[in-house]
Amino acid sequence: MSVTFEHITLAQRVLFGSGRAEANLVAEVRRLDARRVMVIATASARDAAEQVCRGIEVALWFDHVAQHVPVRNADTARAAAAAHEIDLVVCVGGGSTTGLAKAISLTTGLPIVAVPTTYAGSEATNVWGLTEERTKTTGVDDRVLPTTVVYDATLTLSLPAGLSVASGMNSLAHCIDSLWAPKADPINQALALEGARALAPALPGIVKDPREIGAREQALYGCYLAAVAFASAGSGLHHKICHVLGGTFDLPHAETHATVLPYVLAFNAPAVPDLAGRLATALGSPVGPGQDSAGAAVGALDRLREAVDAPRRLADYGLTERDIPDAVQRVLAVAPPSNPVPVTETGLTTLLGRALTGAPPIPTAN
Ligand code: NAD
Repeated sequence: MSVTFEHITLAQRVLFGSGRAEANLVAEVRRLDARRVMVIATASARDAAEQVCRGIEVALWFDHVAQHVPVRNADTARAAAAAHEIDLVVCVGGGSTTGLAKAISLTTGLPIVAVPTTYAGSEATNVWGLTEERTKTTGVDDRVLPTTVVYDATLTLSLPAGLSVASGMNSLAHCIDSLWAPKADPINQALALEGARALAPALPGIVKDPREIGAREQALYGCYLAAVAFASAGSGLHHKICHVLGGTFDLPHAETHATVLPYVLAFNAPAVPDLAGRLATALGSPVGPGQDSAGAAVGALDRLREAVDAPRRLADYGLTERDIPDAVQRVLAVAPPSNPVPVTETGLTTLLGRALTGAPPIPTAN
């Protein structure tokens, strides 16, 4: 069969090196000839950010950061950037911090140097998100893609094991959802599978020893590949579900992704047996003789969840049975028509019901 696709690779500079963030940031600020730098970091990350920014002059520190980027925070940050005549935004933190930097760039076009401290991966995408009146809106705009990413695994050593797991599973969700997202192609699928291959052993490694830099580096490497794959492939069913749960029901981002992922995999995997088999291999469990590949992939993900004690029930994060019909309708309105399995009210209700209570994810022939 002939292979036909259109693939776009986003242009971005990536500087990767443990203990090198400070030097790499100095070099980037110089290269970009920036004179008025705004640094976004939460109050709790201020000390770490000050260390990273020791070699640069900072014109403005900004710490009004919240998950899912409330529009009012974005407006305040944009006004502050304008008032201080900022010419470069540096963000040091997780996806929420990067998200606020992106909100500034969306309207101002200011360049961003991102210094991530979680495995959310927002730094490698041209996707922005803003939340207002219980609704999260996302969009794609190349202006929000950070010019440079400075990865330094030492900055993730302080991320507690539980948050590392949730964030790492969020990253794995980028890999898995990329396999069937609307613009999935052989290139982003290859990146996604290599990302999964790196993340699968890295997460148990972090749980075993949160100070183990090698595992942290592998998680960051996997998270970058995952995000590149996601940026290229677009949002699949998994992301559509999680955006509704985060934006409308205020569920925490990474934990929601970690919880929902096995149920979406179980929903879709039977319809994409070849990809499911490759995913099982990437997760370290090649499909055995006589074994079906969907079962192998779901089983591999389940064992990983068990090994790292990943989040399991949406009920733990505030979703209730009563919320499901509203959530289902909201997801149905945005579910990708190209999903390998048609997304129905019944199918979604079952999927969310199982994720609510943490019932075992079982591949179903749809
Ligand atoms: P987050 O940025 O909210 O961080 C979670 C918690 O971890 C916070 O309390 C934070 O202070 C803390 N933290 C971060 N780094 C730490 C460190 N090194 N040590 C100790 N504590 C640390 O959460 P997140 O999961 O990184 O990002 C979630 C947000 O990112 C969501 O709003 C989501 O929509 C967005 N996101 C966007 C994209 C995209 O492509 N646009 C991709 C992924 C995530």
